[in-house]
Amino acid sequence: MPPRFHIELDRTDPDVPLRASQSHVHHTWARTFHSRPELYVRPQSLQEIQKVVKLARRMRRRVVTVGCAHSPSDLTCTSAWMMNLDNYKQVLKVDQDRKTMTVQAGIRLHDLNLRAKDHGLTMPNLGSIDDQSLAGAIATATHGSSMSHGLLSDRVQSLRIVLANSQAVRCSPQQSPDLFRAALVSLGALGILAEIEFQMIEANNVEWVQTIRPIEDVLADWNNGLWTSNEFVRVWWLPYMKRAVVWRADKTDKAPVKPQYNWYGGNVGFHTYHILLWLSQYVPRFLPWVEWFVFGMQYGFNDGALISAVGEQRTELLMNCLYSQFVNEWSIPLEKGPEALTRLTNWLHGDEQSSGIPFSTKGLYVHSPIEVRIANTVNREPRPFLDTSYPNTPALYLNATLYRPYGQDPPCRERYYQAFEHLMKEYNGRPHWAKNFQSVDYPYLSSIYGTNLDEYNRVRSEVDPEGMFLGAWHRRTILPPKTDLPLLPLEEKEVLQRHRRTGGVDWIGEQARWFDGGVDVFDKPGSESGESFDYMAQAEAENSVLLEGLRDELELDESRVSTTTEDLQYDDDSFVQAKKREGAEEGWDGTQVFKSILLSLSIAIPLSLALLILLRTLRTPTPLNDAEASLQALEIERGLVELMKRKN
Ligand SMILES: Cc1cc2nc3c(=O)[nH]c(=O)nc-3n(C[C@H](O)[C@H](O)[C@H](O)COP(=O)(O)OP(=O)(O)OC[C@H]3O[C@@H](n4cnc5c(N)ncnc54)[C@H](O)[C@@H]3O)c2cc1C
Repeated sequence: MPPRFHIELDRTDPDVPLRASQSHVHHTWARTFHSRPELYVRPQSLQEIQKVVKLARRMRRRVVTVGCAHSPSDLTCTSAWMMNLDNYKQVLKVDQDRKTMTVQAGIRLHDLNLRAKDHGLTMPNLGSIDDQSLAGAIATATHGSSMSHGLLSDRVQSLRIVLANSQAVRCSPQQSPDLFRAALVSLGALGILAEIEFQMIEANNVEWVQTIRPIEDVLADWNNGLWTSNEFVRVWWLPYMKRAVVWRADKTDKAPVKPQYNWYGGNVGFHTYHILLWLSQYVPRFLPWVEWFVFGMQYGFNDGALISAVGEQRTELLMNCLYSQFVNEWSIPLEKGPEALTRLTNWLHGDEQSSGIPFSTKGLYVHSPIEVRIANTVNREPRPFLDTSYPNTPALYLNATLYRPYGQDPPCRERYYQAFEHLMKEYNGRPHWAKNFQSVDYPYLSSIYGTNLDEYNRVRSEVDPEGMFLGAWHRRTILPPKTDLPLLPLEEKEVLQRHRRTGGVDWIGEQARWFDGGVDVFDKPGSESGESFDYMAQAEAENSVLLEGLRDELELDESRVSTTTEDLQYDDDSFVQAKKREGAEEGWDGTQVFKSILLSLSIAIPLSLALLILLRTLRTPTPLNDAEASLQALEIERGLVELMKRKN
């Protein structure tokens, strides 16, 4: 670290540790983006979080808080400072009467539900997975699929946030409501969510049923109970087969029943599908056949095929998301769903004219079904300023997933996403904040969110006037152009995005360039440091209308800590999650596994060989490990600094 760092560190409270490392290579779960923060900090107390913010302000650094990096975009990439709250995850309070739990914000959803189970409680709704941190899920408007539920944020009762001036403040619908509305979907740009009071419900079982149906039937039921007959409903749209898998679930008093055994459902299906997807990278026209085969094996080849089970809500709402993937999800008004899906299906079948989507379909085949889900927040108050759902109609979420078999980007991505986003924009769609949208900018978002985006930005700049929590992702999307809002002193600029040989992208930001001879932002002419900023930030906080009366105690009241959580083993590097896949049998013995592998190989090997012969001239790149990758990133940065020096 630059010498100045140690001077600043010595000026902070020595009793509050700084748990930091300098060798962390950050990547998203899907390995779509990588970056190397100058400092990676994992605090264990509120005071530690506050110390990092204070130090960052004095060192003129941006701070990014990362959950488990399940957002597949460059939203969490930084070359500056990164904070992770995986060790800040205690349950602080359980209010049995109100059925609320107050937790430290780094807690993962899985962990929260496990702790809740001890108290007979559970989260009211979940998305496809429960690996996310509660703060991260809230920050990006994560949702499940239910006409009876909205975003996960809807269940937040109150929050405690560490702001750029390192003060911890509380907000709720009654206390500083504007700050609360901005913080409900904050995109990490407001401050560091430290504590969350979350509304739970009584723990329960759900019974789910899954059927496969022709898409005409699904469309015919659209306004006739498809979304309203059950508490939870989600649909996978299989465009090539013109069929859809409909999954429904309701609360039940029934005892758990496992899904029917399906030999294909576990490892066999997982690896077969992966290999087939990889092969279709080279022969994309395979994909309609792959869809027919894989989903037929998994869910049945005949219409109406049924799978069902009963189990705990906290596990049964989940699904296995399989492999590394790009995801591009948008919400549109529910009533536009049939038209939008029909147009997209027509386009994927090459019928450009009736689809009305002005992009060529020549040679284009896509990797996976479209996920169709719903959230209903009609008349719900208070609403996040950056709410992706609608106040006057249920929101339909269409998710165009594209798998990245063995880390390779699918060839159809560019054109498919151009066409998909064109369609979504025709319905004034709202992109899911966490995902891989590619043609979204401030003018579009401003036209969609109107004064709500202005309000969010007003609150944001009031609590973080120097842009300590802002990066290039925010500038590209939610911030006005530099002509209207010049770059803020701590806002991190992007220097470079570069494709890695092993797949994915390296993201390099401007800050923290001292280590390779670059100019440190700290040393730039005109940049100040030290206490003057502390005084300034303090004064801003005191003058702020938003923060009036919100001065918060800085000490954690230990008596409120009722339970501590034990460390759970998470393997962020693993794409094969320990989730139950529908129809999968648990606890296989060695013989079963062996038989399955044999079966899988007997399908996959002849196919692979045939194609490998065809493709023998094509070579796959040698994978790099993280250390090599990090060296590679360093080399690029050195090159860049040289370039910049020469320019200057
Ligand atoms: C396999 C998979 C399945 C998914 N399924 C769904 C789904 O069903 N429904 C859905 O809506 N989304 C889904 N997502 C998206 C996912 O819910 C979001 O990307 C979510 O934000 C991930 O949480 P995280 O903890 O990984 O946050 P990260 O991705 O690490 O961070 C997301 C944002 O939260 C901010 N943040 C994190 N912690 C804090 C904090 N303490 N204070 C302030 N800001 C913070 C970050 O700065 C960043 O802006 C899925 C993603 C994957 C990879």
